[in-house]
Amino acid sequence: MKCFNHNERDALGTCKHCSKGLCKECLTDMVDGLACRNQCEDAVAYLNEMTQKVRTLHAESQAMVRKTDALVDAQRRDGAPDCA
Ligand SMILES: [Zn+2]
Ligand SMILES: [Zn+2]
Repeated sequence: MKCFNHNERDALGTCKHCSKGLCKECLTDMVDGLACRNQCEDAVAYLNEMTQKVRTLHAESQAMVRKTDALVDAQRRDGAPDCA
């Protein structure tokens, strides 16, 4: 793939927002993806922020599920007596 702005240059990656091919000169490394320099930086920063939020939410809901499971287990152990 070639850079969107420079037909003669190989693209090093694609913009996370608009998926254009970008050469070293045209990209900005946003750590969690690449962005078109002076164009998509805000959009990619926003995308990364959303991804981070979803990850946090996911981790929180996982923790909640574990807590509920532990409660159910405790109830099974301590609750309903065995009628053997
Ligand atoms: Zn370029
Ligand atoms: Zn872009």
